[in-house]
Amino acid sequence: MSARIIDGKAMAAALRADVAQEVQRLAKESGLVPGLAVVLVGSHPASQAYVGSKERATVEAGMRSFDHRLPENVSETDLLALVNRLNADPAVNGILVQLPLPKGIDADKVLATIAPGKDVDGFHPINAGRLATGLPALAPCTPLGCIKLAKTVHASLTGMEAVVIGRSNIVGKPLAQLLLGENATVTVAHSRTRDLPAVSRRADLLFAAVGRPEMVKGDWIKPGATVIDVGINRVPADGGKTRLVGDVDFGEASAIAGAITPVPGGVGPMTIACLLVNTVRAACASAGLPPPKV
Ligand code: NAP
Repeated sequence: MSARIIDGKAMAAALRADVAQEVQRLAKESGLVPGLAVVLVGSHPASQAYVGSKERATVEAGMRSFDHRLPENVSETDLLALVNRLNADPAVNGILVQLPLPKGIDADKVLATIAPGKDVDGFHPINAGRLATGLPALAPCTPLGCIKLAKTVHASLTGMEAVVIGRSNIVGKPLAQLLLGENATVTVAHSRTRDLPAVSRRADLLFAAVGRPEMVKGDWIKPGATVIDVGINRVPADGGKTRLVGDVDFGEASAIAGAITPVPGGVGPMTIACLLVNTVRAACASAGLPPPKV
């Protein structure tokens, strides 16, 4: 069997086009132009690339992008002051502080300072708590993208056996909450899980968010399962170059799975598209408008 490849790039392009249409409608009907502020501290090359992509996608969708670059040695006080200014700025509907932050800055404190209604990354404890208690919340973008990708294969996730490998606050835990919201039966595995291959083999839906290149092997996968690979790992390639691989051994897994996301071109592009969705949602909520149709 050869798995169907879930084309995250195409799906993300379609979602971004839907967002752009919704942004046009909002501008016409309500004069609302959503704005996203992106804060980058330092010059970490991967972070610079992510931030650049987010800013381009925001502008392409017809929204306002506010770009804030701060030096590596910025003080926590100055960063918090910027976040507070953005909280108070009515043109800013979404605030994203790119992680990781330099040593010496308390990332939890920074994230908790973002106004929950503008927390388009969904990392604020209030949004995490709302998500966990089943209340409407701004949910983290990567898990949102994972759910949308799984739903391209299964119209409903109800009753499905889902295994999430990884329990981080930005991927594993919120993904588990979203899956519960979809009525899946959810197992969250992590570094202390016993017999991870056997746990993984139970899954109709297997999500890998670990950060270990090609850890999930073909014999960890139930035949026909849907595999969503969140991992982004840079590994050495021929000629002194590097290449990106996921947490799943794609070659082995695609021979067993029913459907699988590639890396790159799977979850990554959906994360940015979902950030745009969250920004439009936050803008509608702050203007007292009904939720957008994306
Ligand atoms: P993280 O915070 O480092 O968490 C990794 C999780 O994997 C932890 O819960 C850890 O368990 C678990 N783990 C580590 N080694 C393991 C092992 N041998 N067996 C089972 N579980 C193990 O990472 P993250 O931020 O969630 O990111 C995970 C991956 O997704 C990374 O490759 C990252 O680059 C990628 N990512 C991609 C996107 C995207 O847009 N596509 C977005 C975010 C992250 P413990 O809790 O027990 O330590």
